[in-house]
Amino acid sequence: MLRGSLCGIVLLDDDLGASVALARALEAEEAALREEQSVEEAAAAARAWTEQREEEEEDAALLARVEAFRVRERAEEAQNPGLTEQMIARLPRGPLAPPSPRRRRASTCAATSTAAVAAAADAGVAAEAEAATAAEEEEAAEAASRDCVICQHSMAAGECVTTLPCFHQFHSECIPPWLRANRKCPVCNVRVEVEVDLDMGAAPT
Ligand SMILES: [Zn+2]
Ligand SMILES: [Zn+2]
Repeated sequence: MLRGSLCGIVLLDDDLGASVALARALEAEEAALREEQSVEEAAAAARAWTEQREEEEEDAALLARVEAFRVRERAEEAQNPGLTEQMIARLPRGPLAPPSPRRRRASTCAATSTAAVAAAADAGVAAEAEAATAAEEEEAAEAASRDCVICQHSMAAGECVTTLPCFHQFHSECIPPWLRANRKCPVCNVRVEVEVDLDMGAAPT
């Protein structure tokens, strides 16, 4: 009886020992898992940080390049207030279009509307008169704009003209000397902005 009880206690002790060991093993496993997870999380965070740093460095490099370009541009501008030959070469140039097509198109429109107006009310006639005045004004403005303000001569259709971003036109041989010394349109005084590639002039020659 006593022996049996002792055995029972021993057995109980053994069971207890086994479950404690199991619990400890589970705990250790969990701890290991937690550690593994935290190592993975740390690695992911490190990767994200590195990627972000790389992106930031790329952005900074790009900004530095843009800034360097601007500094160079400002230095060039201070030295020479006009456009560079490269910029002047980028301005669109071509033969001046004859002034008549737009006018002719306008009169074609008027003729069509006259036919329509004939069958319609007086309101239509008023609209036609208005359109004619607008066309005349347009024509006058166009005629005025066909004088090259640099040489004071008129620009004939087919003559080679350069168009500034403000749409003012000049003889192609008249505008470059002006632009070399001046960045503004001689008619409207708007600054002439010409897009140049960021790499232009930066590449070693
Ligand atoms: Zn001219
Ligand atoms: Zn202009």
